[in-house]
Amino acid sequence: MDAYGFDAEFAQDVRRSNEATHKVLVGIQACERERHFVVLGFGSVYDWLIKRHKFSESAAHRRVQASRLLALVPDEKFTSGDVNLTTLTQVATVIRKEEKRTGQRMTKEAKSELVAKIERKTSAQTEQLLATEFPETNTGKDSIRALNHDQSRLTTDLPQATRAKLERLKELLGTQNSAEVLDEAFTALLKQLDSPETAPRETAAKSIPQKLRRYVIQKAQTCEYRDPVTGQRCDSTHNLQVDHIIPKAKGGTNQLSNLRCLCRQHNMHAAELNFGREHMNKFRTVREQHQSYVVH
Ligand SMILES: [Zn+2]
Repeated sequence: MDAYGFDAEFAQDVRRSNEATHKVLVGIQACERERHFVVLGFGSVYDWLIKRHKFSESAAHRRVQASRLLALVPDEKFTSGDVNLTTLTQVATVIRKEEKRTGQRMTKEAKSELVAKIERKTSAQTEQLLATEFPETNTGKDSIRALNHDQSRLTTDLPQATRAKLERLKELLGTQNSAEVLDEAFTALLKQLDSPETAPRETAAKSIPQKLRRYVIQKAQTCEYRDPVTGQRCDSTHNLQVDHIIPKAKGGTNQLSNLRCLCRQHNMHAAELNFGREHMNKFRTVREQHQSYVVH
């Protein structure tokens, strides 16, 4: 085979590889939309990709980001390589940062326009284009580097509004040390997010004594949900909540044998199995309203 024959065959392989990547992204999109990962015993679509399908954290992150923009890319653009996983992830990252900076959702039209602009561009060209289009959105990455066994150095870019919050907190806490402020802020936020008071079934949950609630979470340490088919245990440590195995509304008690520790995703899933998704969606809104009301 001469060089041209070889190259033509290789082009076929690349196309097949692009098709496979596209299929994976479509799958990730479906998994997130249908919340299949919850049933399968994972706390998030990331956990599912990392633990079940052995992606690295960054590979999982890139694919989830890219999958969220997939609807804006015609299949053919992806399989031909005009748009690829790397460039699509670059766009997704900038969109996320820009939305965070402006506090506004970018319209579908603006996103489509942006995706169209990166067609047939290399990763470096895309980076350049995005930096020009969004000069105020820094495309640089955070870095955390270990200095020694108990200190790390964090480098990040702060928008002006965040800087102002940091300065205000320094004043209130009487310190000039940003690390101290961060520690206080992280502790307060974790306390709020980990609080069992954020359990979705407000009325049922409220009647579990605080002590018992703490005991259940401390004993389990991680989410106890197990996929009944594969036996996969979630083990998430994020947003742990106490769940009634038999719901209170169905006669379940506060006895230890009826309590288990679940992450928020699986607490919602258990509730959906008991009460139906539609009912729980209503509840989710009420809960979120309540949450924004109590957190001043
Ligand atoms: Zn879980």
